[in-house]
Amino acid sequence: MAKKIEPREIKKFETDLAQCVKCGMCSFWCPVYQEERTEYSLARGKNVIIRGLLSGDLDLTDKVIDRLNKCTLCKTCTMNCSARANIPAAVVAARADKVNAKGVNFPYSIVYGWLLPHRTFMGNLLRFASWFQGIFLPKTEGSIRHLPNFLSALGKGRQIPQIAPKFLRQMVPVVNKPPEGTPTRMRIGYFTGCMTEYVFPELGKHIIDFLTRNGVEVVVPEAQGCCGAPVYLGAGDFNNGRKLADTNTKSFADFDYVITDCASCASAIKDYKKFLADNPQREEAYGKFGDRVKDISEFLVDVLKLPASAYQPAADIKGKKVTWHDPCHLNRYLGVKSQPRQIIKSIPGVEYIEMPNADRCCGMAGTFSIYYYDLSKNIADKKIEGIKATGADIVVTGCPGCEIQLMDNTIRHKMPVKVMHIMELLQ
Ligand code: SF4
Ligand code: SF4
Repeated sequence: MAKKIEPREIKKFETDLAQCVKCGMCSFWCPVYQEERTEYSLARGKNVIIRGLLSGDLDLTDKVIDRLNKCTLCKTCTMNCSARANIPAAVVAARADKVNAKGVNFPYSIVYGWLLPHRTFMGNLLRFASWFQGIFLPKTEGSIRHLPNFLSALGKGRQIPQIAPKFLRQMVPVVNKPPEGTPTRMRIGYFTGCMTEYVFPELGKHIIDFLTRNGVEVVVPEAQGCCGAPVYLGAGDFNNGRKLADTNTKSFADFDYVITDCASCASAIKDYKKFLADNPQREEAYGKFGDRVKDISEFLVDVLKLPASAYQPAADIKGKKVTWHDPCHLNRYLGVKSQPRQIIKSIPGVEYIEMPNADRCCGMAGTFSIYYYDLSKNIADKKIEGIKATGADIVVTGCPGCEIQLMDNTIRHKMPVKVMHIMELLQ
C-alpha cells in the first residue's frame, strides 16, 4: 500500500542528490543497468525517485521499494561520476526512511532484531541448520551444497558452502599470543564476521596463525557480533544496526587496530559514523572505532610492512596461475587495491594474471542476490567472462561474500577454477 515517508535520513544526503547533473554517464558502469536497461536501475533514475520521496511528490509504493532494493551499492556510479554524487549512500538513507515508515517485514524483523545480535543463539540455530543441510541439501562437490528448487526464495539450485561443523570461537582461544621466541610487535583485535565465524572458520584459524607467527598478538573478543551490513545497509534497519554497532564498538575499545578478512564487514563497521551516529557520543565512538579498522591485506602491507619473504606459498598453490577479484567494498569503499596485488605478486612460484575488469561487481551484494538471484547471476556472468579470459587456476578475493558468489557461479559454468581467500594462498 502506498505511503508517505518522513525523509529524515534522506535529508542528510541532499547535497549528494543535488550534485547529480543528470549526464547519464553512470549508465556505462552500473551493473544493474547493464542487465536491465531501465532508467530507474541507474544512479540518475534512483536520484529522481529519492528526490521525489524527499519532496513528498512520490509515495512509498511497492514499485519504489523494489527500485531502491535493486542496487548492489557497488559505488561504481560514484567513482566514475564527474560530480562524485554519492547516490548509493542516498539509497541506503532512503531504505532507512522506508523502514521508519513501514517497519521490517517478518521474518527479517526477527533475524535483524533478535538473531544477529545474539551470537550464541544464532550459532546454535546454525548448528541445527547444518544438520538440516547434511540431510536435505544435495552435495555438489567438496563442502559445497546446492539449494534444491523447493527453497526457491533463496535461489533455484544455488551452490552454497556448508555451515562448518565447528565454529571459529570453538577452535581458538580469545587471546592468541606469538609462539615462544617470537617477540610481540603489536596487539590487535580480530573482527571475524559471520562468514568466517560460521562458514570458513579454518580461514580465521589460519589468519590467526599467520599473524601470531609474524609477531602479532591476536585477540578475538567474545562479545563481538555481526557487522550489521545486511541489517542497516541492505535492509535500512538503522535501529537494530545501532545495537550491533554499539556492541562492536565496545568490544574493540582496547585495540590500536581492528583487523578483518571481510571487505564488506570492514566497510560496514567503518561506516557506522556516516549512517548510524544519531548523537555526539555515538559519533565520537563510531568515528574512533572506524578509524582503527583495517582490511587484512592493508594491515600486512601498510602497517606491519612485512618483507616479500613473509609471503610463502601454501602447499597446493605452487606453480598455479592466480587472478584477483576486487571486492567493491575493498576497492571503492576502502581504497584498497594495490596491497592484495602486491602480496600475490610476492609469492614465489605463483603466476599472477590481472583479470579484465577485476573491479567489476560480482553481483553478490548480500540480500540483493537472494531477492534478485537471476539478476545477480546475470551480473556474475560478466565476471565469469573476465575470469575465463585469464586462464587462471585460482581466483582469489578478499571478501567471503564474493567468495560464495564466485563459487556458485564458477560451478554453474562448470569451470575448473578454485575460489580462495587471499590469505589461503599463504603458508
Ligand atoms: S550520478 Fe553522476 S554520472 Fe550519474 S547522471 Fe548523475 S552526475 Fe551523471
Ligand atoms: S551503486 Fe552500483 S548498482 Fe547501485 S546505482 Fe550505483 S552503479 Fe548501479
